[in-house]
Amino acid sequence: VRPVPKDIEIARSQKPKPINELSQEIGILPEELELYGPSKAKVSLKIIERLAHKKPGKYVVVVGITPTPLGEGKSTTTIGLVQALCAHLNRNTFAVVRQPSQGPTFGIKGGAAGGGYSQVIPMEEFNLHLTGDIHAITAANNLLAAAIDARMFHENTQSDEALFNRLVPKNKEGKRILSEIQKRRLVRLGITPPEDANSLSTEERKRFSRLNIDPSTITWYRVIDTNDRFLRAIEVGHGSQEKAPKFVRQTEFTITVGSELMAILALTTDLRDMKERIAKIVIASDKEGNPVTADDLGVTGAIAVLMKDTVKPNLMQTLEGTPVFVHAGPFANIAHGASSILADKLALKLVGENGFVVTEAGFGADIGMEKFFNIKCRYSGLVPDAVVMVATVRALKMHGGGPAVVAGNPLPHEYLNPNLDLVRAGCDSNLKKQIENAQKFNVPVVVCINRFSTDSQEELDLVVAKVKEFGAEGVVANHWAEGGKGAVDVAHALIDATTKTKSDFKFLYPLEKSIKEKIETIAKEIYGAGSVAYDELAEKKIQLYTNQGYSHLPICMAKTQLSLSHDPNLKGAPTGFTLPIRDIRISAGAGFLFPLCGDMTTMPGLGTRPCFFDIDIDPDTEIIDGHF
Ligand code: ADP
Repeated sequence: VRPVPKDIEIARSQKPKPINELSQEIGILPEELELYGPSKAKVSLKIIERLAHKKPGKYVVVVGITPTPLGEGKSTTTIGLVQALCAHLNRNTFAVVRQPSQGPTFGIKGGAAGGGYSQVIPMEEFNLHLTGDIHAITAANNLLAAAIDARMFHENTQSDEALFNRLVPKNKEGKRILSEIQKRRLVRLGITPPEDANSLSTEERKRFSRLNIDPSTITWYRVIDTNDRFLRAIEVGHGSQEKAPKFVRQTEFTITVGSELMAILALTTDLRDMKERIAKIVIASDKEGNPVTADDLGVTGAIAVLMKDTVKPNLMQTLEGTPVFVHAGPFANIAHGASSILADKLALKLVGENGFVVTEAGFGADIGMEKFFNIKCRYSGLVPDAVVMVATVRALKMHGGGPAVVAGNPLPHEYLNPNLDLVRAGCDSNLKKQIENAQKFNVPVVVCINRFSTDSQEELDLVVAKVKEFGAEGVVANHWAEGGKGAVDVAHALIDATTKTKSDFKFLYPLEKSIKEKIETIAKEIYGAGSVAYDELAEKKIQLYTNQGYSHLPICMAKTQLSLSHDPNLKGAPTGFTLPIRDIRISAGAGFLFPLCGDMTTMPGLGTRPCFFDIDIDPDTEIIDGHF
């Protein structure tokens, strides 16, 4: 239909096929499916075992140039491309995308189901709640946060003996039976767990019972999946029971999709591995500088129970009825920005040898793609076969010196009329650098130029020519306006790239390098920085994590998505700048260290006119309307 209707109108006009019908088409057995209503289902991880003998399909990651605040269509392209491959070229194809956070859905950017005729449906279910995975993570995260404050409170108000007696009560026979989690804590302390904990010495009881958390070192924060700037810094402990000043402390909230548990879900390989990662979460140091873990707090099992269903990927479909896994949703700027390893593995088996799995790495290639390769592929062992890099004429114009693009404001005239000079300058700076960034990993690159109705043919031709000059293949695509049909040329280019060129994938840095060496490799090689400057806090934390034995972890930079640098105002491809590192935090369970670059915050805020102004429901028909 022309003009292209609103995303929600398109999404609503297509009735999804029953999800059990789709699951049969793609070879999922009825017993491997857990229905969540007619159009969503969770699928069993047992499929991976059942299809162990099958060769996996090609593994493709969709990345982007540095975006404007409006987004350049990576999700739209992921969906358009799978529609082209599957519905138009008859190749078994799965899209694997992240579950959107409620933060941006109600904030500036809106949902993440794609757009135009390339969307996941039903889009309002995709964008809100889905099957409850984000809610489960929020619940689990906050249980651990409550456990930390409660434990410090009890340790501070009870004698050693009283604490021990409560932690390990006597059973009817007078024996003190240790739980499995408590036995593990004793083993970590170098004490063999006895049959009856009564036999522990006074000293052993004390060491077992007192975690001695140093409150100033706590790095586990409460989470909520709403953009709420007023929770960035808070004070807890003003309640009636714990009102003694010593229990009042400064802490903060992180958005759920920036949490370690979300990263764990995205990086885990099964429920057993997830439990092991939860156990390893470091929440603080004790007063002697040793790491204190979630397992020390006894909460590993309860968190795993709260998260047990999250581990199963969610099956949905595109507008053209092709399969999509929606699983995990870490942000790319403050977390690692990719959907789950499990969904990718399942999808690769389901599509089989001649099929394709197309997944997405959030924001620009400098963040989402770098983390996809260096963190996600390292943990999954999966080797990507190709990169599809999304570029738009509007973002190129911005990088070429065009005026600022502000969400909610009309686009300046430069973006609505042809301007070859701006496009050329944007290609020679940001596009060139981001293609080089992808090439550093030795993976073939196809650039998909996501066409907007305001783009002129000369502008599009110029980008195609420039891409060729930079050593990659550039193809114009029109899937937003035409659905899969509009991405058939990109699909052909991708098939060509994966058959002609074998990926010779390599990581950017080896894990054995020091924390600083790894940070500097990313800063200089990917961002274009001249040097890195560490605040005192960051220096202290590097020392601490090195002493605690965590320096071998990969690095997950928390950096703005709006520039290759830490400064959102620096467009194009800035060079020679000094990248400031304010703090470094640890996600020992997920398995990475995350430095905070510049002013980066882990809790976004709401603007003056957030998307929620445009979201509504008709109580009679229950039809939802709005800008998702
Ligand atoms: P990203 O994943 O890169 O953040 P999205 O795919 O979510 O970007 O797209 C951002 C917004 O832009 C969506 O509202 C989408 O409908 C819109 N959009 C994407 N491609 C086009 C296009 N070619 N023409 C018009 N609007 C588009």
